[in-house]
Amino acid sequence: MSHKHSTELPVPYKEVEIQDIMVQLDAARNRDEIIRLLPSIASAHIDYRYLFLAQTNYRRTHYNFTVISPGSTSFDIDHKHFAIHAGMPGWVMKHKTSIAVDIRSAPNTDPGFEGYLEKLGITSLLIAPLQTGSEIVGALIFATNKPEGFRETDVPMATILATQTAIALRNARFYDEQQKRVAQLEMINNIAQKIISTLDINELLSSAAEIIQENFNYFDVTIFLIDDNKEYLTLVAHSGSYIDFLPHGYRQHISTGIIGWTAANNQSVLLNDVSLDDRYLTYAYHNTNSELTVPIGFNDEVFGVLNVEDTRLNAFDEMDMIVLETLADQLGSALRNARLYEEIKRSNMRLVDLDKMKTEFLSIVSHDFRSPLSSIILAAKSLIKHNYAQENNRIIEYLKIIEDQAMRLNNLAEEILSITRLEAGQLTYNFKVVNLPRLTEDAITLVRLSHKHKLHCTIDETVSYIKADESKIRQVIHNLVSNAVKYSPRGGAVSVAVKDYYGDRILVSVSDEGIGIPEDQQEKIFKKFGRVHREQTHNIKGSGLGLWIARKIIQAHGGEIWFDSKPGTMTTFYFTLKKAQ
Ligand code: ATP
Ligand code: MG
Repeated sequence: MSHKHSTELPVPYKEVEIQDIMVQLDAARNRDEIIRLLPSIASAHIDYRYLFLAQTNYRRTHYNFTVISPGSTSFDIDHKHFAIHAGMPGWVMKHKTSIAVDIRSAPNTDPGFEGYLEKLGITSLLIAPLQTGSEIVGALIFATNKPEGFRETDVPMATILATQTAIALRNARFYDEQQKRVAQLEMINNIAQKIISTLDINELLSSAAEIIQENFNYFDVTIFLIDDNKEYLTLVAHSGSYIDFLPHGYRQHISTGIIGWTAANNQSVLLNDVSLDDRYLTYAYHNTNSELTVPIGFNDEVFGVLNVEDTRLNAFDEMDMIVLETLADQLGSALRNARLYEEIKRSNMRLVDLDKMKTEFLSIVSHDFRSPLSSIILAAKSLIKHNYAQENNRIIEYLKIIEDQAMRLNNLAEEILSITRLEAGQLTYNFKVVNLPRLTEDAITLVRLSHKHKLHCTIDETVSYIKADESKIRQVIHNLVSNAVKYSPRGGAVSVAVKDYYGDRILVSVSDEGIGIPEDQQEKIFKKFGRVHREQTHNIKGSGLGLWIARKIIQAHGGEIWFDSKPGTMTTFYFTLKKAQ
């Protein structure tokens, strides 16, 4: 018995010390940091020469040995594996108890372990189990060259150190797993973003196969889709190492193979040895050993199967399955979107076709209307002037009706023709330098006024030329003035004004004292066929096209058109045009 051992009183560990150890170890974020911190923490409480760490493997068949201190020296024993019950660390883990012993009197020794330590001159060991809860995850081993180098009083301190180390290691593992999980989620998210960023189904599928295969380094990835009749699965995308894999378009019945089973049951299958599963179909030309299949779908509908294969045994684990299921979900909803989009595109195309046909039809009809109508109008006009007609008021009256109505039809045909040309983008503009005052006066004289209306026209002297398509601007002014007359059935003043406006622009306004435009209907009057519906105007004829065309024309001239109206009182329409430079 050594002198030291018998004379010195056992030093009880203090609460403060435990607290210290906890705080210091808690600062470590990972295993490396724990290992770096341990020697200084431990040496403050225990007198030792070597410090080692034993950690069990996942399946608890072995423990892995690490030399913590002195770190700089290289020991053969560092990173070695020992059978779980070998030597004193094995004994401590098995008995879940700490111990201070001399190697020669140890209850359990292993030539590879204690034998090796003895060669280093080590005589005494102090070992405490790494325990969290009921779980033993390893042992902390102090060693020294002094005989009976550790005292009984060192045992509780070693136990505390080991327990705190075990907790710190567990936390570090959690932290690490958490970090990994976050990184993985981020990656899945990124990949999903990439996958779903296209609406083209073929592109979507082939890029999905590629992205999944590359990012997760899978041996081979294929995607199968279920046919419309739900009988067959067709290979639609492939990315990976099987050069001679099944060809694109290869079909497999839904009742066969792992892929068929996955599609039919809407359930993933994870096989780490395909030869053990009789659902597996063997193909002569490739040597798959592991396969993981995941259904692709939306809600309860299965669209297809994501299939990953590997030539190795045990290539996949639960994590692969979770990752692939997450991605297959994303793929499923992307696929659904893409399909909806295709459908909308198809029906839109049909609508566009129909609209084109309608436009063409209108264009032909209205064009063909114009020549017979011109003849009718011309004939009516000359008949009115004829002597024998002049003698009969009745005949004149009828002829005027013919002329009026034919003019109306002609206008309508004209408008429809403009529309069809506007829609087909065929309305061509013939821009010239135009005398605006003259044009305005021309347009006004074309409007048939009743005796109840008074027409005023003021044109600023400074206004002269603009660059415009003469006939189209005339059409605009004509429509605005005839609207002003039409929609003021009780008469009143109709005022046309042409003035200088901001910059290089000219403002044309047409005002009336008519029925106005109710606020809730103002939206629609510039729309195609947009008319205000109300009692007073049900007998006022019109097609609701004039303003729609007017706006198109003004916009084509780089101008703007708008209005101001007090229902029941007045309406003023304005439009701007650019001066000729
Ligand atoms: P057309 O195509 O023969 O010109 P329309 O006069 O009905 O037919 P627009 O000129 O486009 O068509 O006018 C659209 C609608 O706006 C009219 O139906 C009318 O309800 C309203 N509106 C237009 N101008 C006035 C106005 N000065 N006062 C009151 N309502 C108006
Ligand atoms: Mg009109």
